[in-house]
Amino acid sequence: MKIKFCFLLLITCISGTLMAQDIYKYSVDLTKLTNDELQVELISPKVSKSEIIFYMPKIVPGTYNISDFGKFVKNVKAFDKAGKSLPVAIQTDSNAWKIKNASKLYRITYTVEDTWDAKFKHNVYEMAGTNFEEGKNFSINNCGIFGYLDGMKKLPFELNFTRPADFYASTALVPISTGKDKDVFRCENADRLYDSPIMFCVPDTITIKVGVTDVLVSVYSPKHLVTSKGVAENLKTLLFAAKNYLGGKLPVNRYAFIYYFNSEQPMVQGQGAWEHSYSSFYSMRERPEKDAMAQIIDFSSHEFFHIITPLNICSKEVREFNFNKAVLSKHLWLYEGSTEYDAHHTQVTQGMITPEEYLKRLSQKIFFSRKFLNDTLPFTQLSLGSADKYNQQYYNVYQKGALINACLDLLLNKLSDGNYGVHNLKHDLSLLYGPKNYFNDDELFDKIASLTYPEVRTFFSKYVEGNLAIPYEEFFGYAGVKYIPKRETESFSLGGFTAGVNEAGNVVVDNIRRINDFGRKMGYQKGDELVSLNGEPVHAEDFAQQASTFLSTLKEGDTITVVVKRKNTSGSIETITISAPAMKVKKTEEHVLEFDPDATPGQLKIRNAWLNLCKK
Ligand SMILES: [Zn+2]
Repeated sequence: MKIKFCFLLLITCISGTLMAQDIYKYSVDLTKLTNDELQVELISPKVSKSEIIFYMPKIVPGTYNISDFGKFVKNVKAFDKAGKSLPVAIQTDSNAWKIKNASKLYRITYTVEDTWDAKFKHNVYEMAGTNFEEGKNFSINNCGIFGYLDGMKKLPFELNFTRPADFYASTALVPISTGKDKDVFRCENADRLYDSPIMFCVPDTITIKVGVTDVLVSVYSPKHLVTSKGVAENLKTLLFAAKNYLGGKLPVNRYAFIYYFNSEQPMVQGQGAWEHSYSSFYSMRERPEKDAMAQIIDFSSHEFFHIITPLNICSKEVREFNFNKAVLSKHLWLYEGSTEYDAHHTQVTQGMITPEEYLKRLSQKIFFSRKFLNDTLPFTQLSLGSADKYNQQYYNVYQKGALINACLDLLLNKLSDGNYGVHNLKHDLSLLYGPKNYFNDDELFDKIASLTYPEVRTFFSKYVEGNLAIPYEEFFGYAGVKYIPKRETESFSLGGFTAGVNEAGNVVVDNIRRINDFGRKMGYQKGDELVSLNGEPVHAEDFAQQASTFLSTLKEGDTITVVVKRKNTSGSIETITISAPAMKVKKTEEHVLEFDPDATPGQLKIRNAWLNLCKK
């Protein structure tokens, strides 16, 4: 307590020495929402120029997407200290306003609406957006509310929030003061401001201690289907696994997981999460905790590992981020790819999932990247064009991006005889660069080769910078894992229909053209909405996973029972139960990875090192 008190006092003292004009002072009253808009007031830092541009961000780090937050801002007005208006003109870019007589600027006011239920077309991902729901929830990604002045984004920001007395602000920011209905936060610059989401609501929070790190888990679940206690219990296993994976200590002393579970916002259909240096914000569909937990853990694991990349290892483009022009780095294989790789690799090396389950996840990534995405587009080009030219290929950062890291990990393990892998490399890179320094985009591959092996440079040239498809049989072969591009098998099936998702977000039978013998026995019809599978509710988010787990546990003689909602001839919806004895059907499997039972001792050594199999 004493240490914390002194720390707060220290911050207050430092802040107290700042002159009023060296800081942005923002005020927002969350109890006064008019037409779904908040009124924002800024007491501006002192401007020395005669004209200045006030910006809202166009793009924010980690989203690889043009957001144009200025579109949500209206009625921008500027005043001098006497309250006299200064001329303001919106620029062609909807994120910029030019203010004249700027040396007299004292105050800026504007209104802002939230992104989640905006009635116009926009590009903002829900996890980077804003939600204003009076008396219920304010999800505030600061990029959606607060702007900055041209050339002055390194100055500190103070945020004064007035809120309902029963609301709590969940964030990784430490308030400099907090009262019955007020919270004041300070951020050292615009980077930290946009890196620090805040969720205001009636609290359901819990703090867990992982080593020396305080981890806040905050949940907004309007139907109380998910609780912070339930999430924290499951998250604990992951966080302790992450701590082991990272060498025994988490690289931050505080962290906040902020979850919004949606059942109130019909216009928000997507789900996602956005990583930050000390927190992550999640927008996910509200459903029973036990059904949602595997997905919550996968999302959380991915976002949490972003504290390594890009927080501790990044290029100039990321460290000195340009909020108003898309200038991207070519190393998404590292920022997103290695993060996605760590998120799952930790789960297998720390015993949270089986090695077989892990291979299945990697197989799915190969399947997706080869079947639906451009497998030979150089990954460095995908990165540079991810916000515009190659936006349609962006999803491959989670598929092929992770596979690049799996193959790099196997190559490093082979070259080092099982003594050095991707997590050692990331450890070494974070010592080299850390949170304050950056690498130049063009030097990274050479740097990694100089830290490791020349063969690694060739790997990057061919498969990351170059347009060659990765020969998975070669890399997985190092660990005695067979890559089978295609094979005919006989296995249990749900019927061979193509599943889709309807407007309500439920799984439906979308296409029955390639239905198999079992599907015909069940009598599926196009448009059937799947309600449950042998009594377990079906959800769009994890149906593929649910079906694959279900089929893998079936035995001869079992019965498959599916409850569907089906339109009858008079057009009304009926709930009916269809069932048939499970039967094996001929099936084509593609992009399969499986352990070779005849692996050599050399291959087993690499496999054990890669998956941490003998240390458990
Ligand atoms: Zn990510």
